[in-house]
Amino acid sequence: MLDRRKFYINGKWTNPSKKNDFEIINPSNEESYAIISLGANEDVDKSVQAAKVAFETWKKTSKEEKVKLLKNLLEIYKKRFNEMAKAISNEMGAPIDWATEIQTGSGQAHLEDFILRLKEFKFEEHFDSKSNNYICYEPIGVCGLITPWNWPINQIALKVVPALATGCTMILKPSEIAPISGMLFAEMIDEAGFPPGVFNLINGDGAGVGTYISSHPNIDMISFTGSTRAGRLISKNAADTIKRVCLELGGKGGNIVFADSYPNAVRDGIRNVMSNSGQSCDAPTRMLVEKSIYKRAVNEAVDEANKIKVDIGSNKGDHIGPVISKIQYNKIIDLIKSGVSEGATLAAGGPEKPNGLKKGYFIKPTIFTDVTNNMRIAKEEIFGPVLSIIPFEKEEDAIKIVNDTSYGLGNYLQTNDKEKAKRVAKALRSGCVYINGKGADPGTPFGGYRQSGNGREGGVWGLEEYLEVKTVTGWK
Ligand code: NAD
Repeated sequence: MLDRRKFYINGKWTNPSKKNDFEIINPSNEESYAIISLGANEDVDKSVQAAKVAFETWKKTSKEEKVKLLKNLLEIYKKRFNEMAKAISNEMGAPIDWATEIQTGSGQAHLEDFILRLKEFKFEEHFDSKSNNYICYEPIGVCGLITPWNWPINQIALKVVPALATGCTMILKPSEIAPISGMLFAEMIDEAGFPPGVFNLINGDGAGVGTYISSHPNIDMISFTGSTRAGRLISKNAADTIKRVCLELGGKGGNIVFADSYPNAVRDGIRNVMSNSGQSCDAPTRMLVEKSIYKRAVNEAVDEANKIKVDIGSNKGDHIGPVISKIQYNKIIDLIKSGVSEGATLAAGGPEKPNGLKKGYFIKPTIFTDVTNNMRIAKEEIFGPVLSIIPFEKEEDAIKIVNDTSYGLGNYLQTNDKEKAKRVAKALRSGCVYINGKGADPGTPFGGYRQSGNGREGGVWGLEEYLEVKTVTGWK
């Protein structure tokens, strides 16, 4: 078992101020993978103080120096790529190929993209040619970064890299359930040569360290990715100190499959929702199918779900892994049972364990048909390999059903009609709309409408989250 009972504060791996051990369980086998410490307020205070002092120098450090250090970090990340993939697979159960290519790959892609954006970013610009006014972009200060377990290094890179790039200093609190990838990233930052205090890492849970960070008077901004429940609490706790709070929260994406969609649209939709064992905030968990192709779509969906293999994270291949924890497992099984009791048709999967997998938090790829949008399975974020299929008759009905949610993160639509695609994309109330299976390019903004949050991460928008905007008159 890995012993990782240290925090990274002011450029050193430091012992926690109090003993508070916490075990990291590998969800593929329910065995201990690592032991960490949960921090106390004193640990946070120490790291905030270090970040506050470091900010005075880091905010003035040149763009060239920051680019150089970020490039060092990128090289180290590439060198330790497989170590990162293994850590992610062990801590959150992602199959090793997925953890390598997709999860660890996403961290590298964000690093590469932010280096490009930083090089191009103008921190000072003339307001307009007739004016003597200038607009300056300045780092906001000390940031508290709180991240989830489901895409651990993706979320960390989306926060830490732009915070570093803009001249902020920071305290990262990774998810206490999957913190090892974050600790590895801290080692890389250390090796890259960032000055002490610029980046600090404290482990801890939401009720303890998370709450203390959110209300800390010397933290200027919180960037949070996680559940809408925690986002609400963080906003309340940050209110007294008027911090900037950037929230990236849950989702309940819709995927509208029109009758004129490309041949593999339904099968691709199934693969998409089941990937990462359904544990993605922008997973298309409600499939809206035009009535004229409903029967065919259901047959294809069930066939595809039954083809998806479920297996342990360390095995190679394109199977899906377990869900993260016993708590999540129980919650998902409860929601599957609610689907049955509320009258949806269980067409694939179900609450029983997949064959041959006695240990581990494994769930069969599950499909409900004849779902109505008022059922719990259509309303709540399940965060497991579970899809609800809902029939629709007209385009406006589909739009209404997809928008009938408190969330608004990622929606999807499939049609060969370009005009219809644009029309529907505009009508959907979400931060991202993916048409015909096309993914978002690096550097595009990611974030939600309504209760999916208020932040935008990635690219220039991701840099701007960490910047104050200042007007200076009489500059010229
Ligand atoms: P979570 O909200 O339980 O925990 C996320 C992080 O917040 C953890 O580090 C946790 O310790 C901390 N936390 C929990 N309660 C807190 C509190 N009261 N104050 C401060 N910190 C607190 O979420 P999770 O289960 O780790 O992650 C899954 C959720 O994350 C899902 O809802 C998913 O949709 C969402 N998510 C959103 C995005 C996005 O970009 N919108 C991306 C990934 C995940």
